[in-house]
Amino acid sequence: MKYLDEYRDAAAAEKLRKAIHRITTREWTLMEVCGGQTHSIVKYGIDELLPKNITLVHGPGCPVCVTPLELIDKAIMIASGPKAIFCSFGDMLRVPGSEKDLLMVKANGGDVRIVYSPLDAVKIARDNPQKEIVFFAVGFETTAPANAMAVHQAKQLGLRNFSILVSHVLVPPAIEAVLSSPLNRVQAFLAAGHVCTVMGYKEYEPIARKYNVPIVVTGFEPVDILQGIYMCVKQLEEGRAEVENQYARSVRKEGNLPAQQLVSQVFRVVPRKWRGVGEIAESGLGLTPEYEEFDAEKRFAVAAYTAEEPAECISGLVLQGIKKPNECPAFATRCTPERPFGATMVSTEGACAAYYRYRRHAARQQSA
Ligand code: SF4
Repeated sequence: MKYLDEYRDAAAAEKLRKAIHRITTREWTLMEVCGGQTHSIVKYGIDELLPKNITLVHGPGCPVCVTPLELIDKAIMIASGPKAIFCSFGDMLRVPGSEKDLLMVKANGGDVRIVYSPLDAVKIARDNPQKEIVFFAVGFETTAPANAMAVHQAKQLGLRNFSILVSHVLVPPAIEAVLSSPLNRVQAFLAAGHVCTVMGYKEYEPIARKYNVPIVVTGFEPVDILQGIYMCVKQLEEGRAEVENQYARSVRKEGNLPAQQLVSQVFRVVPRKWRGVGEIAESGLGLTPEYEEFDAEKRFAVAAYTAEEPAECISGLVLQGIKKPNECPAFATRCTPERPFGATMVSTEGACAAYYRYRRHAARQQSA
């Protein structure tokens, strides 16, 4: 399959592996930002192909994982209402709230529906004028255009029974938060290719300059990731700190301008809480005043609710690249995908779930 097979080609991967070994002379720590990249790295054992002096740490780029506990609780409160039809992508249904998850609400008779597009939720609103339809708008810059389109369409249609529960987060402020932490050990980033397909990569240039870090926009297949690592290490070894684009088959520097225009019409930049990390200034999206009638937090009066995250879960440290999942005492014992403590064990893009799926036996042997 074009654009897939050649990026899973063993000979191409081996060539890059050798090239990385050839140019590496010192210890370097790299972070892959996106959970999809983490999944590929662990699945294909890419980290195990690298020289011993290159460490990969896993970043905060899994939107399900960083959705704060209190927002899951708010979703559960709204979905439990008798008039609500709560629509969400499937991966949010098993994310644990303080006491239960959305799947339990559904099992108890709540009308919780999995949709494949926010526009499906708009259609449900049109077909059910007597109900309140809420869409769980979770994600990074990648999903923001489709969610903005749904709200825009609902406004055009004059729908009064449609709203969204917004949990949109932005990648560049998260990278800055990692770099500004006193515990930071990351020296270069593999930026998430799909986010840059929408946003381009101009925003990364001031970050690369300010913190003197290479940032390479990278895809998700094994050859993409090995090439992104090669480009990062080459910059580090040569003392450069630039933004480069490995994912040129999908990403242009300016990104998708019509999508950006729609997003900036419907959403504005706001502070957002990240699960396990806390609030990061200007790190998320909220509705603009023109569209705030579609804000589910206001419509259902849940905006003021807060919740404490369980102390035992160290997913915040995992999401900042400070700890690896198998360093968590609860990993694969008290915390499993069947009984997850934190969202990084629930989401298929979560680092803990990836380690559980592909590495748990090795992790157990190590600890034994
Ligand atoms: S293994 Fe479970 S408890 Fe530990 S950090 Fe991951 S999600 Fe949290």
